[in-house]
Amino acid sequence: MTSFGGNKQGLEMMYAMLDCVEALRAGNTQHVPMNCPVCNEAELHVFWRQYAPQKAGLWVWCISCRAEQHANSRPPEWWVNLSNTDVESSLLVDNFERWKEIIDSHVRQLLLLS
Ligand SMILES: [Zn+2]
Repeated sequence: MTSFGGNKQGLEMMYAMLDCVEALRAGNTQHVPMNCPVCNEAELHVFWRQYAPQKAGLWVWCISCRAEQHANSRPPEWWVNLSNTDVESSLLVDNFERWKEIIDSHVRQLLLLS
């Protein structure tokens, strides 16, 4: 059981989750949702919301253990914003569970085309 009380563990968790994002960005995994580096369940979801060339908000979160990170990020070359206005206009952090399947199928489709 991993605990996230301390800063060091929090940082390690953040870097482990961002490593998963980089593997996805590089096309090194087509497995979406990914295995969570914190709890090892296949419940790690990733989403970018691009708002300018080379600029996006990144969300990565695990439905199983509730680990999550949000950061500014350069989107992958292959990223296209989801054309679902409900998802795009919602506050994503409050709706992870609700939108995860729409988001995952969007990411899988982009990976297939990339
Ligand atoms: Zn997890």
